[in-house]
Amino acid sequence: PLILGIESTCDETGVALVRGRELLGDVVATSMDEYARFGGIIPEIASRAHLQSFLPTLDAALERADVDLSEVDAVAVCAGPGLIGSLTVGISAAKALAAATGTPLYGVNHVIGHLAVDELVDGPLPERFVGLIVSGGHSSILAVRDIATDVVELGGTLDDAAGEAFDKVGRLLGLPYPGGPHVDRLSQEGDRTAIRFPRGLAAGKDKERHRYDFSFSGLKTAVARYVESLEDQGLEVPQADVCAGFSEAVNDSLTAKAVQACLDEGVDALVIGGGFSANSRLRSLAAQRCEAAGLTLRVPPLRYCTDNGAQIAALGAAAVRAGVEPSPLDFAPDSAMPLDTVVAR
Ligand code: ATP
Ligand code: MG
Ligand code: FE
Repeated sequence: PLILGIESTCDETGVALVRGRELLGDVVATSMDEYARFGGIIPEIASRAHLQSFLPTLDAALERADVDLSEVDAVAVCAGPGLIGSLTVGISAAKALAAATGTPLYGVNHVIGHLAVDELVDGPLPERFVGLIVSGGHSSILAVRDIATDVVELGGTLDDAAGEAFDKVGRLLGLPYPGGPHVDRLSQEGDRTAIRFPRGLAAGKDKERHRYDFSFSGLKTAVARYVESLEDQGLEVPQADVCAGFSEAVNDSLTAKAVQACLDEGVDALVIGGGFSANSRLRSLAAQRCEAAGLTLRVPPLRYCTDNGAQIAALGAAAVRAGVEPSPLDFAPDSAMPLDTVVAR
C-alpha cells in the first residue's frame, strides 16, 4: 500500500510517500530561519508557516514520488507530541485529505516515528530493540517490542532535553541560535578530559530509581558557574574545552543508559533518532560502547534524524502492515502524547 505521511509537530512541514518500506518522495520545508532573532521558536509563526507551506510541500512530494493523490491508500499524520498550533494545521490537512479521498487515517506518535524511519534506509527493524530519541524537545529511552503495537517508555529527561541543554550552553557562551551545532563543532577542537562536569542521576540514591532517566539542568548550571568564575577573575574562557567537557558529560549519560537498557531488556540492537543524533560525540561514543557490549547500532542518515514526513509515513506503513485499526476521524492533537501510544484513538 501507498502511505502519505505528514509531519507538523514543530517548525518543519514534511510530506513523504512510502510504499511498504520504500521511500518514494520526501520534501521538508522549515521555518527555523525565522527564529534566530528571537532565540527560540515562536509557536504562532510556526503555525502560520505550516499553513503556507503545506500545499506546496504536498505537491512537491507527490511530484517527486511520481504518484497521484488518488493512488494513496492511507494517510498518516503526527498526532503529537508537539506544539498544539503546528499539530492542528497538519492534522486538519490530513483529515481533509483522508475524508476527500476516502482513505483510512492514522494519527501516529512523532517520537516513535524517529525510530520507524530507520526502516526506510537500513531495512526492516529488528523485532525488539531499544530506541534512544534525542532532539531539541526529547531525550527518551524506549523499549520497542513491536513498533506498531507495543512500545514502553523506560525513561527520559527530568528537565532539559539534550539539544536544549546544548542550545543553552551555546547561548551562555555567546554562540548563535541554535547553539547545538556550534557547541559540537567547538567541542571537537577541545580536550574532553580537561574539565570534568557532573553527570546527572548517575550516583547516590537516584541511581536505581532513575535508571533510565536523564537530568541536564545541573550540568548546565555547572557550566554557567565555571564560565562566570573565570570571567569574574578576568580570565579567558577556554571555549573548546568547556564544550568538549560538557558534551562528554551529556553523551556519557545518554550512551551509558541506552546501552544499559539494551542489556536489561535482553535485546541486541540500539536505534538512535532525533535531531541531536547529528552530534559527533554521541555517534562515536555510541558506536564504541555498542561494539564493546556486542550490540548492533542503527542511526539513520542525518536528514532522516531531523523532523520529516518520512518518519510519519514509515510508522503509518508499519501500522498498516500490523493490521492496526485506523484513528477515528475526530481524534484530537495531543501536545503531550504519551510515548507508549503509537496510534491515536
Ligand atoms: P522535536 O520536536 O522532535 O523534539 P526539535 O525540532 O526540537 O524536535 P530537532 O530538529 O530534531 O529538534 O533537533 C534540533 C536540536 O538538536 C536543537 O536543539 C539543535 O541545537 C540540536 N542539534 C542539532 N545538531 C546538533 C549537534 N551536532 N550537536 C548538538 N546538538 C545539535
Ligand atoms: Mg525541528
Ligand atoms: Fe522530532
